[in-house]
Amino acid sequence: MKLYNTLTRTKEEFTTHEKGVCRMYTCGPTVYHFAHIGNLRTYIMEDVLEKYLRYDGLDVKRVMNITDVGHLSSDADTGEDKMLKGARREHKTVMEIAQFYTDAFFDDCKKLNIRNPDTVQPATGCISDFIKMVEGLLEKGYAYISGGNVYFDTSKLDEYYVFNKHDAEDLEVGVREGVEEDTAKRNKCDFVLWFTKSKFDDQELKWDSPWGVGYPGWHIECSAISLKFLGEYLDLHCGGIDNAFPHHTNEIAQSEAYIGHKWCSSWFHVLHLNTNSGKMSKSKGEFLTVSLLEEKGYDPLVYRFFCLSSHYRKSLVFSYEGLDNAKTAYERLIAKIASVKPEGEVSCGDFAKLRSLFTEALDNDLNTSLAITAVYDVLKSDANGATKLALIEDFDRVLSLSLIEKAASLRESEQGGSASFGIDAETASEIEALIAERAEAKKAKNYARADEIRNTLAERGIILKDTKDGTTYTVE
Ligand code: AMP
Ligand code: ZN
Repeated sequence: MKLYNTLTRTKEEFTTHEKGVCRMYTCGPTVYHFAHIGNLRTYIMEDVLEKYLRYDGLDVKRVMNITDVGHLSSDADTGEDKMLKGARREHKTVMEIAQFYTDAFFDDCKKLNIRNPDTVQPATGCISDFIKMVEGLLEKGYAYISGGNVYFDTSKLDEYYVFNKHDAEDLEVGVREGVEEDTAKRNKCDFVLWFTKSKFDDQELKWDSPWGVGYPGWHIECSAISLKFLGEYLDLHCGGIDNAFPHHTNEIAQSEAYIGHKWCSSWFHVLHLNTNSGKMSKSKGEFLTVSLLEEKGYDPLVYRFFCLSSHYRKSLVFSYEGLDNAKTAYERLIAKIASVKPEGEVSCGDFAKLRSLFTEALDNDLNTSLAITAVYDVLKSDANGATKLALIEDFDRVLSLSLIEKAASLRESEQGGSASFGIDAETASEIEALIAERAEAKKAKNYARADEIRNTLAERGIILKDTKDGTTYTVE
């Protein structure tokens, strides 16, 4: 498989240090609030990558941290701690906030068919590992103590700005909120490994350390957690593009200084999801979450389909119009699959030929939109029904769009409903979608929309009937 590597800025053949095993690390969420759908774009694309590597036969060992301490509102070690901010906002403790939003994150992942990494490690569970690493960096002369904090000394490196030739816009350093010059730093790019003093002294979570009571910097957690669970040779490190600098640059600096050799060979960065008005935000404008999309009647998998329809290395603009188009395309696709009859026996020749369209697409830097086109190619092909369904099931191990399950439930509902009324699969899928939207509207107490759907369908002769097991319909 060829994959773009941000480190070398080229598309390269993806290889692993140990044959057949891929050690993959993912920067996890900062659990101070719900994830927005931009964050989840990154996790969806990483999920497809992980699943494709497995599909390709690799034994993927994937680790993800949970940032529950140390991430300040500016990625440049300044501003307020995001977790503290969240706790204050909700009048809860930091740990309560962390638990609540960690659970919420995995709920969202489940709805989006994102597989949980093999190891998920909250940063607060590895404080002694961070301390050990900071001690090592001090011993090796890569760190210094100043103004009460421990800093990494970037002037000790031959090369620091590894990712810096990327577009300046993509590499903007976090949110520049309350940025203050840190006069304790020796060099502008030095960063904090361990805080004991900062401009805020009411940090809720603090631990004893050789340098006094304090807490770790954000970057050290990913280096230490990755080294602890995946060893000194990492094959693949993932994150959103905003993580490339300074977070990943700093991770490389401290990890390689600590272990004394090259650490991670390939870096996968997902470009941002933006809104029409610019950057996606949790505090300004509409806070776009999976739950909000559900409240508006969208199946979360429509959002997954929307993401897979464009390339991860292009920034993507979110709009409801775009999402509606994805919804229509997804529902039509399901309806088409539902209309395939499982006839004949799987033909190995057709299977291999059509499968190669799918693998060629993903082998070329994870081209997910072409991989979806390969599903349409299967449907259009003259392969028999059994072969078509076997291929779609096979592709969905990677795409995770629940294609077979959704098509089966559509067929079932048709048998109970539309089939006997002579409605085609596409119309049936449209009716089912409207019924689902009406249920969501009712849940959100939007009775006007619920009634509107009932009336529009009635005008077409489709009469809804609410039962204790859900809504069914008859056709006049
Ligand atoms: P955070 O919870 O802020 O640590 O971010 C979680 C993940 O989402 C990181 O990999 C970020 O790089 C990524 N991310 C943040 N904003 C966006 C966005 N608008 N689009 C895509 N990914 C994002
Ligand atoms: Zn990280």
